Amino acid sequence: MLILGLQKTTLLDYPGKVASTIFTGGCNFKCPYCHNRDLVMPPADVLAYSKDEIFDHLNKKKKILDGVCITGGEPTLHKDLPDFISEIKDLGLLVKLDTNGTNPQMLKSLVNDGLLDYVAMDIKHSKAKYNSIANMIKFDLSAIEESVSFLKENSVEYEFRTTIMKECHTEDDIIEIGKWISGAYAYYLQSYRESEQVINPIFSPHSPETLKHFVEILKPFVPNTFLRGID
Ligand code: SF4
Repeated sequence: MLILGLQKTTLLDYPGKVASTIFTGGCNFKCPYCHNRDLVMPPADVLAYSKDEIFDHLNKKKKILDGVCITGGEPTLHKDLPDFISEIKDLGLLVKLDTNGTNPQMLKSLVNDGLLDYVAMDIKHSKAKYNSIANMIKFDLSAIEESVSFLKENSVEYEFRTTIMKECHTEDDIIEIGKWISGAYAYYLQSYRESEQVINPIFSPHSPETLKHFVEILKPFVPNTFLRGID
C-alpha cells in the first residue's frame, strides 16, 4: 500500500459514522477536475505513511471511531488492499471503500469476503462520454459496467456519485446516466468545487437551481437521489 494521507477524524467521509480516512497514492484515471492532484501524481519527494503509523493511530482511536474510509487515488490498484482491510476489520472497525470501479474483480472479492461495509463508486459520465472525464489511454467501459451491475445486486451497502460540472454534464447526459444506473440504491450529485489541488482548474459548478432540477430528472430512475456539497 502506498499511503499518502491520513485524516484522523471525520464526520463527512463515511455517511453517519465517525471515521478516519486513509488516502492511497496513484490512480489509473486522470480526471481533470480531480481535487487530489498530489495523490494521483505524487511529487518525487512525497512522504508516505508507514503501515505501523496507520495502525498505531487506529489502535489508539478505535474506541471513538466507527470505521475507516479508504480513498485515493484509486485504492484497488494496490494488490495488498485486501490484507490491509482485513487487519482493519480485525480491530472491529467498519470499512468504506471509495473507488472508480475499474477493478470489479477486487471489488467483488472484497465484498464476498465480508471486508467492506459500504462502497462509494464514481460514475464519471454517461457511457458514451465516460472517457472524456477519465482520460485513460486504453479505456475499458466494460469494467465500469461490471462494477455498476455488481453493486446493483445489493450485496453491500453502496452509493453511486458524480461530480457535476457545467462544462461537462448536460441535462441529456444526466438522463443517460439515470437510465444506466436505474434501480440503484442511492445516487449523489456532487457539485464541482475549485481548489488548489485540482488537476486542471478550468471548470465551474452548475447553479444550485440546475442541480436541483437534475435531481428531479433522476428521481424516476433512482428515488434516493440527493445533492451533496451545496451550501
Ligand atoms: S477523481 Fe478519483 S478517479 Fe479521478 S483522478 Fe482523482 S482519484 Fe482518480
